[in-house]
Amino acid sequence: MYGAGDVRVEKLPDPTVQAPTDAVVRVVRACVCGSDLHPYHSMPASERGRPMGHEFVGVVEEVGSEVATLRRGDFVIAPFAWFDNTCEFCREGLTTSCLHGGFFSETQAEAVRVQQADGTLVKAPVGEDSALLPSLLTLSDVLITGHHAAVTAGVDARTSVTVIGDGAVGLLAVMAAKRLGAEQIVLMGRHRARTDLGREFGATDVVAERGDEGITKVLELTGGRGTHAVLECVGHMPAYEQAVGTVRAGGVISRVGVPQYEEAPVGFGSLFGRNITLTGGPGAQRRYIEELLPDVLEGRIEPGRVFDRTVGLDETPEGYRAMDRREALKVLVRP
Ligand SMILES: [Zn+2]
Repeated sequence: MYGAGDVRVEKLPDPTVQAPTDAVVRVVRACVCGSDLHPYHSMPASERGRPMGHEFVGVVEEVGSEVATLRRGDFVIAPFAWFDNTCEFCREGLTTSCLHGGFFSETQAEAVRVQQADGTLVKAPVGEDSALLPSLLTLSDVLITGHHAAVTAGVDARTSVTVIGDGAVGLLAVMAAKRLGAEQIVLMGRHRARTDLGREFGATDVVAERGDEGITKVLELTGGRGTHAVLECVGHMPAYEQAVGTVRAGGVISRVGVPQYEEAPVGFGSLFGRNITLTGGPGAQRRYIEELLPDVLEGRIEPGRVFDRTVGLDETPEGYRAMDRREALKVLVRP
């Protein structure tokens, strides 16, 4: 990406094993993320540009001398962060805060160098022609991010849930909340085709209105109280304000949309006076992939339904355009 709206496909040197803990993975499927649209809207023009993409599944091509669990030919899922899976944060499950980790930003490509390969990559028993590829690819980001929102908000059979945002993360947050047992799931979104998919994933109510009008509708659906959990899957201030407006006293707001602001109301009138908990963050936890993978492999969930367009690598700029214009919900890139 060379600036807002300026995505180019270029030839670069092939990635190589540089450290003994590295692997090189050939990308079988990548995709464009809703969070890639933030720089697509706002990145200042740059001479050098920056590589893009943080989601992929692929096949191991080469491993460093200290990589113990992977070999050439293994099919792997990569979360959007890399980590050793052994440091004190990883042992607590917070792999996105790994002392030896980082976040991918180069995976809309033919191949990727993966640092800390043993810690990062999760093997899946499928071939690279598997019909499950789209669903497996959601374990790279959008499904585990939606799941992270539901888990950190404490969603279970006892909780009512509001999901803000009808992008792929929002729709899969609905799926995750349903999977964890929530009975009432209100989806706030205004794109009918998307909210229809959200209903299939488990939303019991859809609120198309935004702002105060949307908040009023959610309160009407919940006896005037709001929901125990609010999963904010957008990242802009109006979505945060909707979260504050729809959360029940004593409830939890979990944000997984990357915030495009640093300052937000947290005082008596917003969070404090009603004992609201604010949580969330990057959700590339390895344990989520391991927990959700069996459900994907055995067909109990089909999160890959969020992909509604496929492009070749050369057509990636068109993929950005289609998502930006809301013509596509989520674009799969097939190198
Ligand atoms: Zn670690």
